[in-house]
Amino acid sequence: MSNETYRRCSNCGEMWLNQDYCPTCGNIINITLKRELERKEKAIQKQKKIDATKKKSAVTLFLKM
Ligand SMILES: [Zn+2]
Repeated sequence: MSNETYRRCSNCGEMWLNQDYCPTCGNIINITLKRELERKEKAIQKQKKIDATKKKSAVTLFLKM
């Protein structure tokens, strides 16, 4: 059973074996990892928006008192 995966860097075109990041330019070449990171980033952005809304309403509430 082989667990070896070749991935091509979309930035510089190099092929790498079992690498998540391109050693040459640092580009993410593991698509699964890239999607996972993008998903996490979106979740963080969403949470930031929620936090900002909460802070805003807290200030509004304070000003009304
Ligand atoms: Zn590269």
